[in-house]
This record gives sequence, C-alpha cells and structure tokens, in this order.
Amino acid sequence: MSFKELKLHPALLENCKELGYETATPIQAKAIPVAISGKDLLGIAKTGSGKTASFVLPILNQLLKDYAGEPSRQPKVLVLTPTRELAMQVTDVFKSLSQNLTRSIKSMAVYGGVSINPQMKAMYGVDILIATPGRLLDLQQSKAVDLYKVETLVLDEADKMLNLGFQKEMEQILDLLPKRRQNMLFSATLSKELEGLNNIVLSNPIVIEIADQKGKEEEELINMSGYFVSDDRKGPLLRHIIRKQEMKQVLVFASSGVKADKVAGKLFKNGIDAASIHGKKSQSARSNALRDFKSGELRVLVATDLISRGIDIDNLPYVINYELPRSPKDFVHRVGRTGRADAEGMAISFVTREETHHFKVILKKMKRYVDMIDSETLDFKP
Ligand code: ADP
Ligand code: MG
Repeated sequence: MSFKELKLHPALLENCKELGYETATPIQAKAIPVAISGKDLLGIAKTGSGKTASFVLPILNQLLKDYAGEPSRQPKVLVLTPTRELAMQVTDVFKSLSQNLTRSIKSMAVYGGVSINPQMKAMYGVDILIATPGRLLDLQQSKAVDLYKVETLVLDEADKMLNLGFQKEMEQILDLLPKRRQNMLFSATLSKELEGLNNIVLSNPIVIEIADQKGKEEEELINMSGYFVSDDRKGPLLRHIIRKQEMKQVLVFASSGVKADKVAGKLFKNGIDAASIHGKKSQSARSNALRDFKSGELRVLVATDLISRGIDIDNLPYVINYELPRSPKDFVHRVGRTGRADAEGMAISFVTREETHHFKVILKKMKRYVDMIDSETLDFKP
C-alpha cells in the first residue's frame, strides 16, 4: 500500500520518500489508520517490519493538525523504551520524519547515564518526549517536565516495558498521566493476554497482528544454523567461522557483561576488530561502540541482551549466539537484529550438549528447524 492512500500530510509523504520508504509495510498499512482514528492499539509484527514508523507517522500527522500552543514543559506525546540506545534510535526516526513540516515539531530523547542538566534545559517546547522510565521520573521529580498533558502514550517493546523489571517505575509513570489518552503498544512478542495490559489500556484495544509466514522456509529472511560445541572450544570456533565465512559485520550475544568483555578481548588479541557493549559500561563507551558498529567501521560487536531489543542495524548479515539466552523471547529478538526490512540474514547458535533440549524448546516456539553441525568434525585449532 502507498503512503498516499493512508491520507498522511503531504510533508510527511515527502519525508517518507526522502528516507526511501516507497510503500507502507503491512503493519504500517494497518496500524496507521487505527492510530489516526485515536483508538487504543496493540501492534504485533515481526522484528524489522517497520513498527517504529507505524506510530511516528500518525503521531506527527496528528500534531500537525493540532493547535500548536505556547511552548511549555508539557509534552503531548510520550514514548517509552526499555533502553537508552532504543530511545535515541526512535528519536532519530521522529527527527527524520519531522523535517520541513508546516510547523516545527520538537522531539527529544531523555535517558540515564548522562548528565541531567542539559535535558532539563532542553525540555522547554518539546512536543514528543522519548524516554527510559528511570530518567523520566527523575526529570518529573525535578519539575523539569509535567506529564498531565500527554495525549498519546506509546510503549515500544511493550512486553518488555510491562515486565516485572519495569513494573514499579511504570506504575509511577502511569499515575502521572491523564486517564484519558490514546495508548499504542508495539512489539514482535506481544500477546493480548499479557499481564499488566489492563493497567495501560482502559477499553478494548484494536489488535493488529501481522501473521508471520512461519514454517514456510523459503519465505524466511532469517536463515539459521547451529553448532554443537563445548564451552572451551567456543572461542576458537567463533574465530574460525568469522574468518572462514569472511564475515564483515557480526553481532555476537553473550550471557553477561563480563563474558562479553572476555569474548571481545580474545577476538581483538587474535587480530579481529571487536568491542563489547553492556549495561556496566559508561554511556559514552556504549554509544561509541554502537555508532561504530552501525556505521560498519567495527567488525564485531559482542553484546548482552541490552541491545537485543529494537536496535536497527542496516543490513546486518550475521548474528551469533555465543551463549543461548534463557528465554525463547530473547532469542526471537536477538536473531531479529538480522533479516530486517526485507534483507536476508544468518543467525548462528552455539549449543552445548547439555543445552540440546533447551535449544529444541526455543526452535519449537519459533516453529523452526535447524540442521546442527558437530564442531568436533571441523578442523580448527583450539
Ligand atoms: P521494527 O520496529 O518492526 O523492528 P523498524 O521500525 O526498526 O522495525 O524498521 C526496520 C527497518 O525498516 C528500518 O531500517 C527502517 O528504516 C526500515 N523501514 C521502515 N519502514 C519502511 C518502509 N515503509 N519502506 C522501507 N523501509 C522501511
Ligand atoms: Mg522496533
């Protein structure tokens, strides 16, 4: 479907063109009209299918119609994300799509790990606030922002935002919002039965679920393979396949920050350009690593699940699970960093013999089958 048929403001159509968006993706085609109608909405569609623009475009469209009002510290739109990196990325999409509009619309990201003062100062006149929960509450408590004029609330990676980990902060934030508002929730792994949903949406939301072509192997953008490998041979195997398959850019997932540092360090020592990213690093180290990886300058990024959610890396060809995640949901999001926006990708998993059953459970949930390679049969030095 063309964006024109979605009755968006001409300036927004122009910006879509500018970004290379020629036709609306399925979730965009279905979600945008519902969002414009003002109804609550749950948008469920696979990783990399364009969910961000599904809320960015109707939000900008609505703000263009509204009376602008005097600049204030009362944003009309609040978008919550689970990580700082995702808040920045979503803000970039808002900014790209709000160029040269008939009135200027200001969007801003606020998140922790950096000083709060510049954020407090810049809050004045912000229409759209994109935030991680902790810093948002800090700003609210410092009276740098009022949330009682929020008309639209978006939860990106909504199932994560409604997880136990964010529960307390989410409850506090919801208390600060007007009861009458539009709610839009998006994720690849969201379900109508999600606990905590009733705290967000008051009435029955419109559920838009774009079915995956599951099981149809030829239509899968994410190819998968797996290696049986013992823990002590994972490092050598990783180096072996990065070299052998001449991987130009690969995202490797490890189970902890300590492990991610170790894996990256070992690669680096062996002449493979690598850096790590995880929650224990400084924000500037996190930002630099992700920037260099996104630009293609850095060959290997070793990460924790910190960046398994939502992060968009243009045409990323490979994801490797150096260690399997515990939850199948995390697996879906990790491998979803590749095979985005109609590009193909490869997801490789390292599986120890003890994890055979766990890996089967994950694949069964994904309705996928993977041919396993026994690393013992491969010729590489330990
Ligand atoms: P999701 O949130 O569903 O995982 P994103 O919103 O991050 O996906 O979009 C994935 C990629 O697809 C981004 O690089 C984005 O620029 C691109 N994209 C989004 N919408 C379109 C479109 N209509 N046409 C082409 N590319 C698009
Ligand atoms: Mg997303």
